[in-house]
Amino acid sequence: MTVEYAICGTRNSIIGLPTGLKILTEGGAALDAVEESIRLIENNPYDITVGFNGFPNLMGVVELDASIMEGKTRRAGAVAAMRNYRHPISIARKVMEITPHAFLVGDGAERFARALGYEDEEIIDELGIKNYYNIMEGRNLEMPPEAQQLVRELFMRFDDHLQEVMSDYPVKEWYQKLSFEQQGTTNVICLDQNGDLAAGVSTSGLAMKFPGRVGDSPIFGAGIYCTEEAGVACTGNGEIALRLSTARMVADRIERKQTPERAAELGILELKQIRDKGVLHILTMDNKGRCAGVTNKSGLYHYYADSSMKEPEKRASHYIKISK
Ligand code: ASP
Repeated sequence: MTVEYAICGTRNSIIGLPTGLKILTEGGAALDAVEESIRLIENNPYDITVGFNGFPNLMGVVELDASIMEGKTRRAGAVAAMRNYRHPISIARKVMEITPHAFLVGDGAERFARALGYEDEEIIDELGIKNYYNIMEGRNLEMPPEAQQLVRELFMRFDDHLQEVMSDYPVKEWYQKLSFEQQGTTNVICLDQNGDLAAGVSTSGLAMKFPGRVGDSPIFGAGIYCTEEAGVACTGNGEIALRLSTARMVADRIERKQTPERAAELGILELKQIRDKGVLHILTMDNKGRCAGVTNKSGLYHYYADSSMKEPEKRASHYIKISK
């Protein structure tokens, strides 16, 4: 059966996918369906991994990253480490459409958003602040007692005594465990009735990240890539997708006629090449609407809908155990 259009997204995308599906059903563009779906996810105050109330950095400041990419032209736009704007996906799209650039960060991204007339606002409320203190005080993580001390020390000494803290505590392991438990970020990939693909990613990044840390989500080739034949996006420990150039590798395999499922499986199997622990979830869809979600963490899932369906359905992502 030929699919006329299709949409897929990570597990937290269900709040936005019906809107994206409606856009596609009515003949709208994949880029619009991606952006509008992600804006709804960015608005969700209960999602602590994306947009408003996204998890803050170590100093309690929310810094957001987002990217969008169109397959047929490979036009792309991204923003990173952006404060005070709740819809980084729309600003990323504007970077793509109206600037001579593909990527703006920090101050520059905020200045650009302001120049476009986007509203500058507080993007964390009491709930987000409570979540931050929960982690600061070691409450909602199963951590050894040193973990609580670690995060406090990191917070208090980030500026002056960071080297000391890094040598006295297992900081890297702590972040690995945290990213395993606090995994989130949203990916949406759409195929429209013209046969065009687009992909988008939005995130607040790794919880309690160092200020200025940027993960894979806004990096073309790592956390996102889109060609005429395949859209790919990742979630999980961004440092891993950055180091493996995951999204571009998976897209290339699909261009070379592997199925999305196999291309993503090979992406996950590449984890064997690095020693670090960490979660990676790869979501991909080709221009026939064939979608796959593959991961090294059990129990993850994604959503999918196409022209034969009324609403998105939940699908288990294929789990591959990677032993070190
Ligand atoms: N990949 C995101 C990052 O590293 C985080 C996540 O997917 O949870 O910023």
